[in-house]
Amino acid sequence: AAARILQSGMRLPPLPTIRELVKLYKLQARKQLSQNFLMDERLTDKIVKSAGRIDARDIVLEVGPGPGGITRSILRRQPERLMLVEKDQRFTETLQLLKECARPLNIQVDMYYEDILRFNVEQHIPDTSQRIHLIGNLPFAISTRLLINWYEDLAARRGAFRRNDTCMTLTFQKEVAERICSPVGGEQRCRLSVMSQIWTEPILKFIIPGKAFVPKPQVDVGVVKVMPLKRPKTQLPFPLVERVVRHIFSMRQKYCHRGYGTLFPPEDREEVTEKLFQRAEVQDTLRSFELSVEQCLRLAEVYAEHVNAHPEVASYDYRAPKNPEIV
Ligand code: SAM
Repeated sequence: AAARILQSGMRLPPLPTIRELVKLYKLQARKQLSQNFLMDERLTDKIVKSAGRIDARDIVLEVGPGPGGITRSILRRQPERLMLVEKDQRFTETLQLLKECARPLNIQVDMYYEDILRFNVEQHIPDTSQRIHLIGNLPFAISTRLLINWYEDLAARRGAFRRNDTCMTLTFQKEVAERICSPVGGEQRCRLSVMSQIWTEPILKFIIPGKAFVPKPQVDVGVVKVMPLKRPKTQLPFPLVERVVRHIFSMRQKYCHRGYGTLFPPEDREEVTEKLFQRAEVQDTLRSFELSVEQCLRLAEVYAEHVNAHPEVASYDYRAPKNPEIV
C-alpha cells in the first residue's frame, strides 16, 4: 500500500469510489457526449503517470473530467492549479467534492462548464510563467478535431502553447492513436501522422482494453503523450501546410503526385506538379504513406513559392463546379 501511495503521489481524504458516486448521482453515460467512464484507479494513475513529472508550480488542464476518476489521480500529483473543462453540468456535485478535498492540499481547482473547442486558455491563464499539462480521456467525437486545433495553436504559439513545453497526455480510439504515431511506410500512416510529427513527437504509451470503460466502447483505447518539438520542423503557416498535406494524402494508395496535383488547375497541372516535385527533390512515384515529414514539408515549401508567384492558385478548389449555376 505504501508503494502505491508513493507511486501515485499524495493520499486524498477518504472518498466514495467513482462507481459509487456514479450510482449515487445516477450519472448514466450520455452517448451524444461520447461518455465512457474509467473507474479503475490503477488505470487513471497510469494515464497521469504518462504525463511525466508534474511540478508543484504546474497547471493541469483536464478535458472532460466527467465523474472525476482521472481528476483524482491528477490531484494526488499536487499541481498548483487544476482546471477542469466539462460540457456536462451533471458532474457538478462529484467535481465539487474533489475541489473540497483539494483545498487542504493547497491545490486551486477551477471548474468551467464549457465546450473545450471554444475554451479560451489565454483568458484563464493570462501569463506564461507556469508550465501547462493538457490531460484527458477525450470524447471520441471531438478528439481529432481538438488535436488539430491544438497543433494550429502550437504552430502560432498561442493558447495553451505560448510556452514550448506544454505536454498533452490524451486518449484516442486505438486506431487513431496508432495513426498519430505511425512512422513512414506504416500501415496507419496518414495525414494525421504527418501533421502530428511536424510540430510534435507523439508516443503511444499503452493500450486500454475497451472493457475497462463503462459503458464499454466498440474499440480499445490508446494513451498518447504528445510533446511539442523544441524546434518545429517548419515555420510555414499552419493553413498552408494543412492544405498541402491534405491534398497529398487525398489519394493515399496512388502515386503521391496525383493528390498533390489537385492543388493546381487542370490546364497546367501536370507541368506544374512535375516541376515542383523536381524542385523539392521528391520522387513523384512514391505513395503518400511512403513520404517522410521532411519530404511533405519540401513539397509544402515549393508550393508556397509557387503561390507567391501565382497568388490565384491559393484559392483554387478542384472540387468546385467548373460552371457554377447561378441560383
Ligand atoms: N474523464 C472521465 C473518465 O475518464 O471517466 C470521462 C471521460 S468521457 C470519455 C469524456 C468526457 O468529456 C465526458 O465527461 C463528456 O461529458 C466530456 N465532453 C464531451 N464533449 C466535450 C466538450 N466538447 N468539451 C468538454 N467536455 C466534453
